[in-house]
Amino acid sequence: MEGGLKPMDAEQLRECGHKMVDFIADYYKNIESFPVLSQVQPGYLRELLSESAPTHPDTLQEVLNDVQSKILPGVTHWQSPNYFAYFPSNSSIAGFLGEMLSAGINMVGFSWITSPAATELEMLVMDWLAKALNLPDDFHSTGQGGGVIQGTASEAVLVALLAARDKVLRRVGKELIGKLVVYCSDQTHSAIQKACQIAGIHPQNCRALRTDSCNDYALSPESLNKAVTQDLTIGLIPSFLCATVGSTSSTAVDPLLALGNITKSNGIWFHIDAAYAGSACVCPEFRSYIDGVEKADSFNMNAHKWFLTNFDCSALWVKDRSALIQSLSTNPEFLKNKASERNSVVDYKDWQIPLGRRFRLAIPSC
Ligand SMILES: *Cc1c(COP(=O)(O)O)cnc(C)c1O
Repeated sequence: MEGGLKPMDAEQLRECGHKMVDFIADYYKNIESFPVLSQVQPGYLRELLSESAPTHPDTLQEVLNDVQSKILPGVTHWQSPNYFAYFPSNSSIAGFLGEMLSAGINMVGFSWITSPAATELEMLVMDWLAKALNLPDDFHSTGQGGGVIQGTASEAVLVALLAARDKVLRRVGKELIGKLVVYCSDQTHSAIQKACQIAGIHPQNCRALRTDSCNDYALSPESLNKAVTQDLTIGLIPSFLCATVGSTSSTAVDPLLALGNITKSNGIWFHIDAAYAGSACVCPEFRSYIDGVEKADSFNMNAHKWFLTNFDCSALWVKDRSALIQSLSTNPEFLKNKASERNSVVDYKDWQIPLGRRFRLAIPSC
């Protein structure tokens, strides 16, 4: 089957594109006139649309009219200036235009050869962002580490946990998976629990350590130390700590340096989830919130939350990319690199769960 946009589609694209951008611009012009929270009842859309797909094409204008009258009422307006729920998910003109260009070029960048620009730009921009956050050099792609865009913080903590799990299991033997212990606090996002479920960590070995208001709900190094010591005594294997900078329910900031020291002396992989608050740390006056990140094995922040970038864009850095790759790479015949490129290129398919991956592009100059 022949696919793809063709040269003869260019003029139609130009004309429709103008109309579409006008529609979106009007949406933003009027965004404050909508109720922020959608007022529809469950199942509202089935009442408005037919049971089967339309058999005749609509004009673009008819489609946009439907979007206006049937879809917008079912939208909760995350981009509204009056939206204060969950977390900020703010785009920007730069974010929007980047998204448009990515959609326009529509490349798939799972390995270097599938679009060298996709991989090389991502590596470079992740290095820029690492420098903006003043992350230690070990997280840069010029050394043993590097950054990769994941869809969400949940995927970021999962792939970090998989890398950590397999690193320990290579040392102690696969049959001991039931003994691995993962630590977090009772303020840590539920993403860690899901990651443990997927990674096959024994449900009783995922320790959400208690925090309290005296400590502003931060995880205390003493309680981590105590838990690790107890687990070692009964023959378990402390393997992974997820600390948070800006926890979801209490915006708690865990003391990274002290926690990091404990992980280092016990061979525990140290992951930092700064999904929401990490963006703020590009400002020198807030950088101190991630002091201690030099002890971490992996660090994550969601650019799609507070960094003016469209959903989804979650930035993950690791110090030892080979640990990720050992857990996540497969190399079937149809994906093999040329011998001449084999050791000199990054294939992001080996840093993530899916094979396919989209290209994301921001236009920082807007
Ligand atoms: C938002 C958030 C998450 C979950 O993010 P997803 O990207 O939706 O998986 C996890 N941890 C923290 C601290 C968050 O703010």
